[in-house]
Amino acid sequence: MSTALPTYDDVVAASERLQGVAHRTPVLTSSTADAIAGAKLFFKCENYQRMGAFKFRGGYNAIARLTPEQRARGVLTFSSGNHAQAIALASRLQGVKATIIMPLDAPAAKRAATEGYGGTVVTYDRYKEDREAVARRMQAETGATLIPPYDHADVIAGQGTAAKELFEDVGQLDYLFVCLGGGGLLSGSALSAAALSPSCQVYGVEPEAGNDGQQSLRAGKIVAIQPPKSIADGALTPFLGDLTFPIIQDKVKDILTVSDAQLVSTMKFFAERMKMVVEPTGCLGAAAVLQKVHPVAAGARVGVIISGGNVDLKAYGGYLAG
Ligand SMILES: *Cc1c(COP(=O)(O)O)cnc(C)c1O
Repeated sequence: MSTALPTYDDVVAASERLQGVAHRTPVLTSSTADAIAGAKLFFKCENYQRMGAFKFRGGYNAIARLTPEQRARGVLTFSSGNHAQAIALASRLQGVKATIIMPLDAPAAKRAATEGYGGTVVTYDRYKEDREAVARRMQAETGATLIPPYDHADVIAGQGTAAKELFEDVGQLDYLFVCLGGGGLLSGSALSAAALSPSCQVYGVEPEAGNDGQQSLRAGKIVAIQPPKSIADGALTPFLGDLTFPIIQDKVKDILTVSDAQLVSTMKFFAERMKMVVEPTGCLGAAAVLQKVHPVAAGARVGVIISGGNVDLKAYGGYLAG
């Protein structure tokens, strides 16, 4: 695998591959949200992306770049959910076999959807086993190509296409708030921001319990933490990637954290005021703005990426009722 960092040119190439395949998701606004934040907010709604999250972009782009020989041997990945569905769907659309390594405690809806898209699921215990080691062992057995959830140039480039569309649709922004797990979405978004709205301040937002990104930025090197416990199940990554971290270090202003309670408030806001189902992880960026974790200048133009909308209905109902 190449260790060269992706550039904005790679994001542009990815957007051409995704043309007519990925949805160009809507950018929604809300005067209630604007009043709360004291700014003009633009929500890029990747909860309306195919399979329900931005991860379709990176997964499809990575598979589109495989050689015919690699396609014939299939692909393999590990994921807490959305990347699994992305790889399953993107593989099926491109006629490639997909095996997905998933934690035992992954949300039931995500596992069912992955199998529904035709992916083969293999489980492991995320408190006891290292998913990357499990993946490497299976890769050696099958010859399949490993497509990791974030630390891969083609994945990062694909994820950057969501922010590219946002800037194309609304123009220059003062701030952009992006959900952060392993940093594929954040690093890709930062490439697009730097190219299309150079003065935009880009912030990553991660769960309080899993602030490895914030610690890493402060330390100037990748800091690994114990697998965190948070309702943001798409952002439970214990460390940033060797490719995502340098881009984040170079182009991201800071990394913020939000609590699970703040995520629940934000989920309720989206359901009640904007009539949108957003998963806990998908609320990270918005929570930082709506819960005023980070002040934005009065009247500022603020982009927020809503990263996904795949909820376990039972858990979701509980959050809304609680
Ligand atoms: C994967 C995921 C994230 C985190 O993305 P990274 O590229 O790992 O930082 C955020 N939100 C949702 C909905 C996700 O599925």
